Amino acid sequence: REAANIAARSRDNLRCPIIVIMGHVDTGKTKLLDNIRRTNVQEGEAGGITQQIGATYFEPSTLLNRCKKLNDTEKLDLTLPGILVIDTPGHESFTNLRSRGSNLCDLAILVVDLMHGLEQQTIESLKMLRSKGTPFVVALNKVDRCYNWKACANDPIRSALAEQEEGTVQEFRSRAEEAKVQLAEQGVNSNIYWEMGDDDWQSSDFVPLVPTSAISGEGVQDILLLLCRMAQEKLWRQLMWCGNLQCTVLEVKAIEGLGMTVDVIVVNGTIREGDKVVLCSMDGPVVSEIRGLLTPPPSREMRVKSEYIHHKEIKGALGVKLIGNGLEKVMAGTPIMVVGPDDEEEDIKAEVMSDLTSLTDSLSVD
Ligand code: GDP
Repeated sequence: REAANIAARSRDNLRCPIIVIMGHVDTGKTKLLDNIRRTNVQEGEAGGITQQIGATYFEPSTLLNRCKKLNDTEKLDLTLPGILVIDTPGHESFTNLRSRGSNLCDLAILVVDLMHGLEQQTIESLKMLRSKGTPFVVALNKVDRCYNWKACANDPIRSALAEQEEGTVQEFRSRAEEAKVQLAEQGVNSNIYWEMGDDDWQSSDFVPLVPTSAISGEGVQDILLLLCRMAQEKLWRQLMWCGNLQCTVLEVKAIEGLGMTVDVIVVNGTIREGDKVVLCSMDGPVVSEIRGLLTPPPSREMRVKSEYIHHKEIKGALGVKLIGNGLEKVMAGTPIMVVGPDDEEEDIKAEVMSDLTSLTDSLSVD
């Protein structure tokens, strides 16, 4: 199995990148997520967008559909199997959560209110992203509040700007310039994303700026396509599919009829019903057998309390609810490991707990 896993690791076999939305309160994080997640009316029910545990999954065809107008010129050959967007915008713990030594999140959208520039939590988010080495884009949101903005619903941002009068474009330009200066004061080099040179794009710490309106949707295509491009062109090494489970606990919850459950993000690899796993609890390592792997039903109408779809196996990246015994004291933000047929249980216990030690160390440094 090990050999098969190694053979399968290739740039042509990637997992979904995990994306988180961050930023100061009231910059429009929730609105942006809503806009990104909006159900495609023409396709009927959520069309290729499915609600997972703690996250929303977007199919490649849905992404291409959403970005069609922009991709007619950008021509990105999408090789990702989709993207997974964490559902709790602004929740900084998601950026801090790690899974076996690596970050839980592959990419972030840092939302800035174009009218306000950088604010306190923007700066805190910036520091955290940089200390974790998480690549991110800055959404210069509320572009529609520039004087006399004419809404061009859901258009690529350059088409929308082309529709505006000169004064409106000038206001946008000077506000964007201001944001750039403020970012530079924090030691961050940035530019409007379509004005970045090849060197900027190659540089690992250069940040693209994307003007957006979370209300009328201008620039949302741009954000989605840019994140996909960054993921597959810059992050493909960390996104290569591997058979080994990489999995992080988001939350421990009692659910009526199911008992204690653990919501996790399976970052990479496969988890199966019947797997023997080791988790971290306040009292030390816990060994448990996976008795159920659950995801919410695909359509909202079906979403009756405690009605879930049961799976035999789940491949990352995906959010899923686990059922098992002894999960009461499991801690959020800790890793889960499978005890394979050739593994010593004691070794896995030690490894899981050592990861926890380095996790708490890294948190206390922040
Ligand atoms: P959060 O605290 O960052 O999640 O911000 P919200 O998404 O709750 O938005 C805060 C306020 O800004 C709400 O009143 C939104 O309607 C408004 N808002 C968010 N995005 C935009 C935008 O792009 N344009 C305009 N005009 N208002 C926005």
